[in-house]
Amino acid sequence: MTTMESLIGLVNRIQRACTVLGDHGGADGALPTLWEALPSVAVVGGQSSGKSSVLESIVGRDFLPRGSGIVTRRPLVLQLHKTEEGQGEYAEFLHLPKRRFSDFSLVRKEIQDETDRLTGKTKQISPVPIHLSIYSPNVVNLTLIDLPGLTKVAVEGQPESIVQEIENMVRSYVEKPNCIILAISPANQDIATSDAIKLAREVDPTGERTFGVLTKLDLMDKGTNALDVLEGRSYRLQHPWVGIVNRSQADINKNVNMIVARRKEKEYFATSPDYSHLASKMGSEYLAKLLSQHLESVIRARIPSITSLINKSIDELESEMDHLGRPIAVDAGAQLYTILELCRAFDKIFKEHLDGGRPGGDRIYGVFDNQLPAALKKLPFDRYLSIQNVKKVVSEADGYQPHLIAPEQGYRRLIENALSYFRGPAEASVDAVHYVLKELVRKSIGETQELKRFPTLQNELAAASYEALERFREDSHKTVLRLVDMESSYLTVDFFRKLPQEVEKGGNPTGPTVDRYTDGHFRRIASNVSSYIGMVSETLKNSIPKAAVYCQVREAKRSLLNYFYTVVGKKEGKQLAQLLDEDPALMERRLQCSKRLELYKSARDEIEAVSWAR
Ligand code: GDP
Ligand code: MG
Repeated sequence: MTTMESLIGLVNRIQRACTVLGDHGGADGALPTLWEALPSVAVVGGQSSGKSSVLESIVGRDFLPRGSGIVTRRPLVLQLHKTEEGQGEYAEFLHLPKRRFSDFSLVRKEIQDETDRLTGKTKQISPVPIHLSIYSPNVVNLTLIDLPGLTKVAVEGQPESIVQEIENMVRSYVEKPNCIILAISPANQDIATSDAIKLAREVDPTGERTFGVLTKLDLMDKGTNALDVLEGRSYRLQHPWVGIVNRSQADINKNVNMIVARRKEKEYFATSPDYSHLASKMGSEYLAKLLSQHLESVIRARIPSITSLINKSIDELESEMDHLGRPIAVDAGAQLYTILELCRAFDKIFKEHLDGGRPGGDRIYGVFDNQLPAALKKLPFDRYLSIQNVKKVVSEADGYQPHLIAPEQGYRRLIENALSYFRGPAEASVDAVHYVLKELVRKSIGETQELKRFPTLQNELAAASYEALERFREDSHKTVLRLVDMESSYLTVDFFRKLPQEVEKGGNPTGPTVDRYTDGHFRRIASNVSSYIGMVSETLKNSIPKAAVYCQVREAKRSLLNYFYTVVGKKEGKQLAQLLDEDPALMERRLQCSKRLELYKSARDEIEAVSWAR
């Protein structure tokens, strides 16, 4: 391929890729898209002036719906891709990406059907373009746009507004500064009445991007010719006018094929007494070459600005990608790695909360320093150790035989019953620690920047952490209750050894005659039990926090996610991908962004290569 071909081919490929990405100009009117920065060719003219016919002869294949009346009712963006010699020709629609058409009459049918799909079988129009690519060794690299013909009046079945609508649609294409206008006028009408020239002059007053094409030379009245127009005397343009003879309706009806038609066209010019001196600069083949040459020079001139647009876009896309986060790997190993990394990031923040790098861990100390002592203090021992209750408990414990010296059984029962009051505050401390930990998990997930993209993983992580915390809580419950139970299973002997002495010390030395069942006696018992309970309370105030920290806080730091790691480690590719299921809208945006980035980068590389090859 020559540089020229590869250059236009490159632009074509970029445009095609832009199209696939839905990036074909005019989107939100912000930055000019790459598509808009690249040149394209649009065919403009009155209805039945021969626009579709001209396009077909440039392509060298029959594939467009043609005829009288309004035939082209949606823009057709036609991309010609030159392929290597010897390869088959085929066409592809953007809306049917998986189907290759090698029968071009089916292409025509599909254009008609696809038009009707949007507009109905009416004479309505739609500005939504149909995108068609043709791959063939016999075409030049070009992007051509076929547009509905300009009309003057609405016909039966069309709304009054259609005349203006068509004009607006056509204008929206041709007013773009990179649009090369193929202005088609039929030779059998006065050029002064040409809609094509009228519109072209409006949007391109200097005529530098307008190519005048005169069709239907064969239909001119006998004795007249179009030399005034073709030689630029009637209406001057920067580029030379090109005369064309397309197939007549009769030819089409007779299925005269393209090769024959081209030969006949050549013959027409070669043998025409009026135009033979211009023969080498007339006809559709010449027009195709002319366009292609012009495109090349336009592209060459624009390379610096295209390159800078591409570089700017790459910059913007890169920073958008940074913002969106890089895409996740596709293979299971890398996904697992990503998940574990994310877990670690979360775990690190969680630990920072506990260890004081971040706030929140102090609330656990608050549980031990305030909540637990306050709860212990509030226990209703005063009521429990009232004289009546002590009397009642002691006599119940004595049974039929009241105690003789010290109420051993009574003490035991009083103490055991009193100790069971500690269960409540012990469990409450464990629960309080649990809720602080849970809150810290929630907070840490929120603070793990890397996790923001992955709502599913966030949920799974939270669920796994809560489950682990729940297990730690159960274990901690058991442990603190055991601490309480231990206190009642074996009473401190020392304490009781001291008791009789105290009794004797405080009691009446004349001993045997003293009535052991006075209030004073029970008050003493109550106060003994109370001081024993006080001693135990002090012990528990210290040991409950140790248990809670041991079972809950330490475990949370050590093995919060261990179970989750085992579960994740067993997952297969698809399940892993599900964990990394991002917000679909975000994924879509990243996908678009990365595809575009890829396109722009390869475009940059190719443009560099082509401009060096010069
Ligand atoms: P469009 O509406 O501008 O796309 O025009 P078409 O390409 O559909 O052509 C309209 C009609 O004019 C068709 O019947 C063509 O066969 C016929 N036609 C177009 N160009 C020529 C030409 O150069 N010579 C003759 N004899 N007929 C032509
Ligand atoms: Mg047409």
